[in-house]
Amino acid sequence: MRPNNNSTALGPVQNSNSKLVERFFAHEDGTPLANAFTGKRRVHPSLGMEPVPQEEREQVWHAITARPRRGKSVAYLNVPFCEHHCLFCGFYQNAWRPQEGTRYVQAVIEHLKRDKDCSYQTEDPIHAVYFGGGTPTALEADDLVRLIEGVRAYLPLAPDCEITVEGRVHGFTADKTKAVFDAGANRVSLGVQSFDTALRRSLGRKKSREELIAFLETLLAMDKGAIIVDLLYGLPGQTLSTWDNDLRTAFEIGLDGVDVYSLKLITGTPLVRGIENGKFVPIAAAEHGNFYARAVELLDGARWKAISTTHWRRTTRERNLYNLLVKGGAQCLAFGAGAGGSLHGYSYMTSSKVEAFEGQIERGEIPVAHLMRQAPHSDLYNGVKAETELGRLNLKWLSAELNNRAGLDADLVLGPLFEQWQRAGLVVLSDDWVDFTVAGCYWQATITQCLLEWLEQNINQELEVYELIG
Ligand code: SF4
Repeated sequence: MRPNNNSTALGPVQNSNSKLVERFFAHEDGTPLANAFTGKRRVHPSLGMEPVPQEEREQVWHAITARPRRGKSVAYLNVPFCEHHCLFCGFYQNAWRPQEGTRYVQAVIEHLKRDKDCSYQTEDPIHAVYFGGGTPTALEADDLVRLIEGVRAYLPLAPDCEITVEGRVHGFTADKTKAVFDAGANRVSLGVQSFDTALRRSLGRKKSREELIAFLETLLAMDKGAIIVDLLYGLPGQTLSTWDNDLRTAFEIGLDGVDVYSLKLITGTPLVRGIENGKFVPIAAAEHGNFYARAVELLDGARWKAISTTHWRRTTRERNLYNLLVKGGAQCLAFGAGAGGSLHGYSYMTSSKVEAFEGQIERGEIPVAHLMRQAPHSDLYNGVKAETELGRLNLKWLSAELNNRAGLDADLVLGPLFEQWQRAGLVVLSDDWVDFTVAGCYWQATITQCLLEWLEQNINQELEVYELIG
């Protein structure tokens, strides 16, 4: 591809779709970080999916679980309890009741054990396991250890399997951390959000900056696994100065990695209600990009390595394997209540109600509440997502895929879009690559969703034409 600002690098614009593609165009006002698109979009996992009718669900489930699993695979275990509903969070599921933890863990272990001899579970290695939620670290140490041991007993883990326990600092003691590492976890990911005490308190977080740093230093001193923290920008009351301090604190502590996320205002969360009743003043969405750009500048300046558009690592201990494999469409075995998985071209979700899940496990029933057939070209879409997650796209690969699947000419289909995104300051085109700028990385999810919708539309249109002409 030729980097050329005046004509389509992929070829001349002769696309009959030229009007249709314009709805994916970005604004060209010279302020891509702030204004490239009207609002951020997320990458929709259900693009092109179709639900399996209720009456076919059991039969389809038996068919896909009777086949050996192949290719890169991960496992996700959901612990759907939280001690508090964090103000900004849209993932809150159930209030944590300590007396229920052991029973729930036993049900998840039974879930792991049930198909321990089935080839979809036992064949081929699992490369990454993620304990998410919710708050896995709310579980008692003994229960967390039993869960990790259950995973190691009943799943064929690769020798270098990444095993992540996600959680909060609150309720996660040094002893519990040590127990988790000793049981076999090798990565702990903590939702810190900010080190700033005042900001933390305004979010209802109890630990002060000093307490938080002391705790993280204790974990790092164990030297048993990767310690990663999530930092959030766009919080009410946050400034570029407090954000700088958050990032510099991460450097000083010597964490293995940081994940940097933009605050999303999710309807129904306590934060949005607080904004509506005047308790919080949100930071304008157009300013969020400045926080992202500052993070890139500081992290790059400190020589941390970007391993995705939102993850940076300081040490090689951090691989971020689970996230990268899932984005790339790895098969995912899901355990526990409210867990999402994918297998042989189907996506599924286990029963989200804890009691319903436990009852199904007890009765030996299949705890699958939703089963969806993935789009016919989901492997292509996953390939695109895996690339854009890294802030790039290989044009040779994508051109060949479009040609092989639907006889499409990438010059015509993609040229106008990528050229426009280049003019808008989101990407830089070269012969074989689309590389995202800092603004492009900030808008990565929006760009990805636009691109996937555009590909889906063109592929379906072309295949319909083939069908019509026989
Ligand atoms: S941020 Fe984590 S701990 Fe807080 S409500 Fe959401 S899932 Fe629960």
